[in-house]
Amino acid sequence: MEEMITVKNVSKNFINRGSADTLAVKDISFTLERGETLGIVGESGSGKSTVARLITGLISPTSGEIRICDNDIQKQRCEDPLGLYSNIQMVFQNPVESFNPRKTLGYGIDESLRNRGISPSAAATIVAQLLEKVGLTPDFSTKYPHQVSGGQCQRAAIARALAVEPRILICDEATSALDVTVQKQIIELLDELRRTRDLSIIFICHNLALVQSFCDRVIVLYDGEIVEQGKPDDIINNPQAEYTKLLVDSIL
Ligand code: ADP
Ligand code: MG
Repeated sequence: MEEMITVKNVSKNFINRGSADTLAVKDISFTLERGETLGIVGESGSGKSTVARLITGLISPTSGEIRICDNDIQKQRCEDPLGLYSNIQMVFQNPVESFNPRKTLGYGIDESLRNRGISPSAAATIVAQLLEKVGLTPDFSTKYPHQVSGGQCQRAAIARALAVEPRILICDEATSALDVTVQKQIIELLDELRRTRDLSIIFICHNLALVQSFCDRVIVLYDGEIVEQGKPDDIINNPQAEYTKLLVDSIL
């Protein structure tokens, strides 16, 4: 099996002025295999977004090692950021906020293509194809973020993430701000993309039931530590850690 992400003994300590440090992530290790969808669940403040920011190179670990497609993330982020972000892309919780309010969705989606020197006309063609791929029509490229629904904006954010044809997608609460029906549609879209585009996905979510329907494997985070990992059905039917038992009780 090919490891798309390797996290080895990673910790992240935030230094706070005038108050105690926050050890947000404590000595965690895990991998994401090619083609896999890995869920990360845990309550608010358990460290999920810190993990997302670490594995996308937005922050650096206090200790430990992170490899993305077999490259050291810190080294590649300095030496070849375009290469790093051709492999890994991210979708956030609030799609409207993730776009520039003064620019069209099309501008946001083709930014990475322009950065890679693709001509405007070629980029426009790619954007139209991407919009169709995520279930929107090409005219969405001329709309502004506030002119579309949350679900449509999240589809556009997924199109933006796919523009560079990444191998890995990190979704941090990507469906949490959407209503249940739209949530389901976005998950179906992600699942289809995984199958058709050779994507490996990390799906971060505080909702274990949603993770069960979509993920091959799940990691349970509690207070910055991995307290349990395995197949969603096994974890739900036979939770080991005290925290996981509470989490399972809350969805039954
Ligand atoms: P989650 O996404 O699971 O809700 P986070 O990763 O956002 O959790 O936060 C984990 C812990 O780290 C929390 O206690 C949070 O307050 C703290 N934290 C996150 N980012 C920072 C930061 N930049 N500076 C200080 N503390 C932070
Ligand atoms: Mg978070």
